[in-house]
Parts: sequence; C-alpha cells; structure tokens
Amino acid sequence: MQEYHDEGVSILCDFCHTAWDGEAAMVEGHHGSVICLDCLKKALNAAATHGDKYQCTLCLRINIPGSLPRWSTAEYPQAIVCQECLFQAAKAMSKAPHANFSWSPPTAG
Ligand SMILES: [Zn+2]
Ligand SMILES: [Zn+2]
Repeated sequence: MQEYHDEGVSILCDFCHTAWDGEAAMVEGHHGSVICLDCLKKALNAAATHGDKYQCTLCLRINIPGSLPRWSTAEYPQAIVCQECLFQAAKAMSKAPHANFSWSPPTAG
C-alpha cells in the first residue's frame, strides 16, 4: 500500500504495514499493493481455506471461493492474499537475486 505524506509517498507492506526501505525484497500486486518477504514466507506456511468468499488484495479478484487457500493477519484482517498470488509472488521472489529465497511449487496431487 502507499501512504502519502508531506515528504512524498511511502510504500508499506499491506499485511504488516512495515515501511519499505528501498532495498528489502517485496512483491507488488495491483493498485500499489505489496507483500514483503517475511509476510510471504508466513503466508506460504499458513495459508488456509475458510468457508466464505473473499477478495484478494494483491490481484483484486472478487468472489474467490473459500476453497482456495488465503492468508491474512489478525492485525490487518482487511488485507487478504489468495494462494495464486502467493505462488506467483514466491516464484518472483525466488528469482530475485537479493531476496535469498528459494521456493518450488508444490507438486500436484
Ligand atoms: Zn509484510
Ligand atoms: Zn490474488
């Protein structure tokens, strides 16, 4: 997310609201949404299904069925990431040389 103030604009992780220092590995979604590497790691471990439909903060898809795992924090529950975005972000992050992160997609079945 972007936060406007007198000195300009800050970029914050939508999920933990940590301000981007210009160097940390982050993955961008639509409309200025971002997820930081810490949140991405947590999300990959903890994404889970819930019953109700939801909207993803990163891809902005609405009415995502509850059967697709999602992740959000107790602190900022309005920010939700769907599993498809998580996998995409993980793929992008594993290619970023400075992220020091490796990930391979779970094998189907
Ligand atoms: Zn974060
Ligand atoms: Zn998504």
